[in-house]
Amino acid sequence: MNITVWNEYRHEQENEQVKAVYPQGIHEVIASFLSTEHNVTTATLDEPEHGLTERVLGQTDVLIWWGHKAHEEVDDDIVARVQQHVLDGMGLIVLHSGHFSKIFKSLMGTSCDLKWREADEKERLWVVDPTHPITTNLPSYIELDKEEMYGEHFDIPTPDETVFISWFEGGEVFRSGATFKRGNGRIFYFRPGHESYPTYYNEQVQQVIHNAVKWAQNTHTPKHHYGNAQPLEIIKPKNDDSQ
Ligand code: ZN
Repeated sequence: MNITVWNEYRHEQENEQVKAVYPQGIHEVIASFLSTEHNVTTATLDEPEHGLTERVLGQTDVLIWWGHKAHEEVDDDIVARVQQHVLDGMGLIVLHSGHFSKIFKSLMGTSCDLKWREADEKERLWVVDPTHPITTNLPSYIELDKEEMYGEHFDIPTPDETVFISWFEGGEVFRSGATFKRGNGRIFYFRPGHESYPTYYNEQVQQVIHNAVKWAQNTHTPKHHYGNAQPLEIIKPKNDDSQ
């Protein structure tokens, strides 16, 4: 499978605390654990066309998206290009603050707004759909000692499937794993991954992302022909004389 990991890659270059956690960037950590099983490339905001050329997207089975402070710098034409690839069958995994990315908001059609708090609090992600393939090889919950809080209400359309629900130490809950289908494409939103915490080194978080790319890969979509259609059977003429 060909995976492209896209990262805004600003916090890691501008903030010493974040750089200490992800010296090569969040994208390199995600690419590193996925490359044990897949062909993985990375792309970042400051590359020409944000690294998301037609050629790159054409070769991508699943795109992973991490962005936060520079959503507005993502070019609308590139967003439209990514969206078209999703509709054509490319899988999309949106991580953490990617909830406010142009691509996620345009695919959802809602504000995607939520509550948040940075207070070094514990998060417990409960598996609420244990037969879902994204929960393969996981325990009944994942516990993260310190994470940013995201709380309901999360203004997304009702997900096709809710895979995880998070509890936070401060009392909020959140739909932390949610699947959507758009056109021929599968989309998975996965909440954890604030830039100042080592969340993407957590083996269970890595397991979720491993499972999610497999789930999101399009292996079987039939080719549809839209528009005016010739009948497959002979349609018998109907006339009033038969009555
Ligand atoms: Zn965050």
